[in-house]
This record gives sequence, C-alpha cells and structure tokens, in this order.
Amino acid sequence: MTTWVKIENFQCPGKDCCNDKKIKQWSCSADNTPVYMSQTGYIRCSSVVKYMTFNDANKYAHYDQICNWRWDCGEHHSFMRFMEADKESFLLSMSMALQMVKAKGKAKWIAALVLELGNQFGEEDDSDEDQDSDLR
Ligand SMILES: [Zn+2]
Ligand SMILES: [Zn+2]
Repeated sequence: MTTWVKIENFQCPGKDCCNDKKIKQWSCSADNTPVYMSQTGYIRCSSVVKYMTFNDANKYAHYDQICNWRWDCGEHHSFMRFMEADKESFLLSMSMALQMVKAKGKAKWIAALVLELGNQFGEEDDSDEDQDSDLR
C-alpha cells in the first residue's frame, strides 16, 4: 500500500545545492499545493484532477518519480532554478527529516524508499566493490 508523507522541514535535495537550511513547506510550483512522497519512490502534489480513481498516477495533477522531480529552494542560480536531486543529497535530506514520517511501520517505509532510490539513481555501492577488487 502506498503511504504518502508530506514533505516538510526538508532540506533541499538538489545535487549541487549548498543551501543547508530546512524548507518548512515544499509545494508544487505549478499549482502551489503541498507535495508528498511515498515509499514507492514517487512525489505528488495535492491538486486532484480525477477523483474517481484509485490510481494515484491519474488522480493528481503532478506525479513523478523522485529522480524526475526538480527542486527549487530559492537559493539556486536563475539558470538552474529547478535542480534535480541525486541519491546522496536525497538521503542526506531524508536522514535529517525522519520525523516527518509519522506513518505506522516507519522503519519499513524508510527501508522501502532507500531501496527504491537505489533503483532510480543506481547503486553507487557497485563502484566501491570495483575499487576493492582493484586493491587485490
Ligand atoms: Zn501540482
Ligand atoms: Zn536548493
């Protein structure tokens, strides 16, 4: 089951962003509604376009994988106002915002999301293993 968690008090996960302040309330730039993330690796806004559906992909105006979402904390240079995340930055932001996950089964929710981030962004652990084998 998809559990949506409101993204709040969440540091910008933009991969080249140096802003380490927590942003109190993230919202969708198109319709200014609060954004949520799920343990399945998706982000959505709160603008409902189709009520009579159980499919979240059709239900919300803006819905996409975390790796496709773009972030604007207000501190980016204008040519890259919207910045993509990477796994490391996103995990850092996540680790400092775990209190926003209030769902039952919090540990499972987080574990599922971390696994999914590996799928979306690729496992940088693979390159660590390569480095180990070079030493042998
Ligand atoms: Zn939206
Ligand atoms: Zn930023």
